[in-house]
Amino acid sequence: MKAAQPSASTFQPGRHPGALDELSHDPYHERDKLPDPAVCSDCGAVYHQGRWQWITPPVHALQAKCAACRRIHEKLPAGYVSIEGEFSREHRDEVISLARNLEAREKEAHPLQRIMTIEEQGDQLTITTTGIHLAQYIGESLQDAYKGELEFQYNKEKYLLRVHWRR
Ligand SMILES: [Zn+2]
Repeated sequence: MKAAQPSASTFQPGRHPGALDELSHDPYHERDKLPDPAVCSDCGAVYHQGRWQWITPPVHALQAKCAACRRIHEKLPAGYVSIEGEFSREHRDEVISLARNLEAREKEAHPLQRIMTIEEQGDQLTITTTGIHLAQYIGESLQDAYKGELEFQYNKEKYLLRVHWRR
């Protein structure tokens, strides 16, 4: 097994995403504009009492589209998880199922945290997400499970988190 080498890429880690907890402002949420209760016409999530939930929509709920479905429709992820390295290549199925399991858990409590795409390009695997927290959790869970190198780059203005995990 190769020892971890310092990254020579131009990828610059940003602030640690521990600070992301305060950043709940996703411009896609547009909370103020949403009727309450509302039901997403795409995924059926219900906006009720100020948050998205998986519940039966109240009869008077209006139709809306949740931020996750809008991001999916517009192909505009909030999170990118780039995965590289020999280990991750050899354990690609495990890595993907870890991400999928995490998504299933997250999505249950937080309907807007979803995986959008999982793409392989050359040696790199890229997972895109509708929410920055899911991208963060995937990166942290990969490191918890398999060690490796983990970097974050957060763009507050664009509400965009790039996670880079290499092993
Ligand atoms: Zn939706």
